[in-house]
Amino acid sequence: MTIEHRLAQTSPAIADVLDRALAGKDLAERDVETLLGAQGPDLFAVMQAADAARAQDKGDDVSFVICRNINFTNVCYVGCSFCGFSRHEDDTDAFDHPMEKLLEKARDAVSRGATEVCIQGGIHPSKDHTHYLEILTTLKRELPELHIHAFSPEEVDFAHKKSGMPLKELLGAFVEAGLGTMPGTAAEILDDEVRQIISPNKLRRDRWVEIVTAAHEIGLRSTSTIMYGHIEKPHHIAGHLGLIRDIQKRTGGFTEFVPLGFIHEKNVLFNHMNARPGASMPEDLLMIAIARLFLRPHIPNVQMSWVKMGPKLAQMALMAGANDMGGTLMEESISRESGADFGENLPAEDMRRLIREIGRTPVQRSTTYEILARYDDPEKDPPSLEPQTESELSGPTRWRLAREKFATRAAKAASY
Ligand code: SF4
Repeated sequence: MTIEHRLAQTSPAIADVLDRALAGKDLAERDVETLLGAQGPDLFAVMQAADAARAQDKGDDVSFVICRNINFTNVCYVGCSFCGFSRHEDDTDAFDHPMEKLLEKARDAVSRGATEVCIQGGIHPSKDHTHYLEILTTLKRELPELHIHAFSPEEVDFAHKKSGMPLKELLGAFVEAGLGTMPGTAAEILDDEVRQIISPNKLRRDRWVEIVTAAHEIGLRSTSTIMYGHIEKPHHIAGHLGLIRDIQKRTGGFTEFVPLGFIHEKNVLFNHMNARPGASMPEDLLMIAIARLFLRPHIPNVQMSWVKMGPKLAQMALMAGANDMGGTLMEESISRESGADFGENLPAEDMRRLIREIGRTPVQRSTTYEILARYDDPEKDPPSLEPQTESELSGPTRWRLAREKFATRAAKAASY
């Protein structure tokens, strides 16, 4: 069905918002609230309009980055209610990796084709900014080509307070030591009414804005994120998106927007504070679609999280406004320890397959969206750089190998 035909069958209030978004007009925050109410045929209309907007903004390429997550410590006393990752120092499964371990993980990532490492950790009370600088210099000394994407605004806030340095000077020192870009995490919902409930000890909205803006102003770009599906209301999401777009209009520093659905199973926020059990499937898709329609043309890249959504819903998200599949990750603790069960590693070959299955073209990108390789022809795909022990492989790769093994056995049996 064409978009014109679809819009003709859509509720007038929603069709009006979609018409304006497709005409390239900036939507108002109240339009976000209108779109968040879309159900049934209206939901399909929002998704189809966002998909059309994605095609106009980014074409049919779907990008991904080969990267590794490295969490250097899980020791943290901030106590965010949605966090299943943090531990106290005397917990038996607390860790604080030495530099050699971080280096070993980064070397392994490079051997598997990574162009980026994403480094984040808990707020360990006995560390300070010198520890963060040491991580950067240690990795950059040995792996100068590797892009380091590191330290959330919460970590920068902590390092800044410990350092006593002016904020931009500290960020400049991080860049000098090798920091390439910054994760725009610790955003959750950028509204202190929500933050006071879900993470009362975490940096507040204005401080998040101050840190991200200061980073952008010295040329340090960042991602932008939202965590939804817990206690927030539509007006919180609308305000959050409005704030992100305002910052982008001022600084142009965001590389992408990444909606992150709340993972509920193993944390206090769901188990003891009456939060919702994460977003529903329609809400996940609406969040992606609305991000595309509201943030265009200011933030052209909308990324979906396969860790939170799983590969099949990830494919749907790519048909509802997203143009980026994020990173291969290689290891992932933060979502897994809150209960996510979609694996820790999605190798590049699985990324390419999932993208081709929806009729789009996989492209490998850098952290800042330069295209490194296009994969127009599956016959010319490079060989896998993944480890070959079966237990280390991701689910889809294990299943592919199992299918291949079965086909070989069946061919042998037929030849007898
Ligand atoms: S989300 Fe980050 S800051 Fe909050 S408790 Fe977990 S590790 Fe600490």
